[in-house]
Amino acid sequence: MEIEKKDIRSLTKEQLRDFFVANGDKAFRGNQVYEWLWSKASHSFEDMTNVSKETRAMLENNFVINHIKVDQMQRSEDGTVKNAVRLHDGLIVESVLIPTETRTTACVSSQVGCSLDCNFCATARLKRMRNLEPGEIYDQVVAIDRESRLYYNHPLSNIVFMGMGEPLMNYNNVMKAIDMITSDEGLGMSPKRITVSTSGVSKMIKKMADDEVKFKLAVSLHSAIEETRNHIMPFTKNFPLPELREALQYWYKKTKSKVTYEYVVWKGINDDKASIDALVKFCKYVPCKVNLIEYNPIDDGEFQQASDQAIDNCIKALEQNDIVAKVRRSRGKDIDAACGQLANKS
Ligand code: SAH
Repeated sequence: MEIEKKDIRSLTKEQLRDFFVANGDKAFRGNQVYEWLWSKASHSFEDMTNVSKETRAMLENNFVINHIKVDQMQRSEDGTVKNAVRLHDGLIVESVLIPTETRTTACVSSQVGCSLDCNFCATARLKRMRNLEPGEIYDQVVAIDRESRLYYNHPLSNIVFMGMGEPLMNYNNVMKAIDMITSDEGLGMSPKRITVSTSGVSKMIKKMADDEVKFKLAVSLHSAIEETRNHIMPFTKNFPLPELREALQYWYKKTKSKVTYEYVVWKGINDDKASIDALVKFCKYVPCKVNLIEYNPIDDGEFQQASDQAIDNCIKALEQNDIVAKVRRSRGKDIDAACGQLANKS
């Protein structure tokens, strides 16, 4: 029976160096291969032309590179690009390139499906199949960077972990991916250009603060009233608002980095005065800004976008309290690439 080969990207640089020494080669060979695997994002041992043919054959016999493959690319009329990404085991996730005049943002997935059960999100209807490996997250960024250069003539400028999945429920792999994305041995991007979005896993927000991460944090709040939040995001019963508040205060104390709250304004759910007052109050706990996200209907059920008037009221209330608020219009709706629409439809 053939033994399943190990994914070579699960090895640290040290382990790779040790592997070569144990096989009678120089530790330096490990550095060379590591460079091919990460900064050159090579998907094949054949590419590694500065190591001998015998070494490449030896690697082939011992390891695999579990890289992604962009199976299908769809382009929206507004320039947004959605990649259907096939993983080595046949599962599919999606990632999105969002261009503006001045920058391009990659929206990447962290899990196949999602661990959570937000009632308004299409991804939540998929079962969580598994966590993505660091290399699989890294590859999504590399693919979008290439598309950005090809279609928009500039490199990728920002990354948001707002695709499929809850990044803080795949903590170690997301952190390893970000390490490689920001490392000079990887893509060398600034962590300030990376945002991790969470539905509010308090314990892990504190862990990130303890780990002294340098990227930005966004929280999908959607309501600052416990009962409403529990209703629209049922799993939040395990993550009550007072705990979230405390975790965010801890985050700010340690990182001095402002929090962004995501808030979709829905008619009759969180657009009334009591909801807006609660939001304003919650925003005072730590320095923050608010993104009011346009709702992307996923069916004709319970959730409907609030009126322009209600959204205006929300902005006014926040601004009167010196809280920066912006309305985020949807991008890529026509190809199901907008927030909450990622569900492997095609
Ligand atoms: N699980 C993480 C990462 C996903 S980010 C999190 O919840 O933050 C995706 C963002 O899109 C979240 O803010 C989510 O609440 C929002 N979203 C989900 N469904 C949506 C929909 N139908 N319309 C608009 N935004 C939606």
